[in-house]
Parts: sequence; structure tokens; C-alpha cells
Amino acid sequence: MITVKDSCTACGACVPVCPVQALVYTDDRQKVAVEKSCVSCNLCIPACPIAAIEEVIQTSKPNKKDKKTEVIENGEEGTNSRV
Ligand code: SF4
Ligand code: SF4
Repeated sequence: MITVKDSCTACGACVPVCPVQALVYTDDRQKVAVEKSCVSCNLCIPACPIAAIEEVIQTSKPNKKDKKTEVIENGEEGTNSRV
């Protein structure tokens, strides 16, 4: 699934790249949106100069947990328990 971030500046560079015309300006022309006709060819991703287009991988099963993958960094302090 392709999404356009809010950082899109509606420069239009991606619009002619799409082979199925799935990239369209929003009504206020402040950004570009992806229509359902998108075939996920990903051609538009490198066309954006500010990397505002991204591919979102959806899991097959809906999960109540946060959709975002948590990144746990090393070096996290443990609990201060005494034995
Ligand atoms: S992924 Fe392909 S079909 Fe979908 S909006 Fe981008 S260029 Fe168009
Ligand atoms: S190329 Fe990027 S910034 Fe320009 S309209 Fe497309 S998504 Fe928005």
C-alpha cells in the first residue's frame, strides 16, 4: 500500500510517473493523494524529491497492538532491583 506523507508539497513530480493515474491532487491542491486504482508498482517512490511517498506493509491479521514496530535500543537501563 502506498501512502503520501503530510510533508508532500504538491510539487507534482510524482503525478506523471504513475502508469494508472492513481496520484491525484487533493481538493485544496495542498498535497497529492493515492487513489484505490494504485497497483503498488512503486514507480512513484523514487520520483518524489523529498521522500514523501512510502510503501506501508500491512499485516494480514489486524492486531490490537500498535501497528508501528517498536525499536528497542540496546543499553537500556534495567530495573533497580536488589536480591
Ligand atoms: S505505486 Fe505505482 S500505481 Fe501506485 S501510485 Fe505509485 S506509481 Fe501509481
Ligand atoms: S513528488 Fe512528493 S512532494 Fe511532489 S507531489 Fe509527489 S508526493 Fe508530493
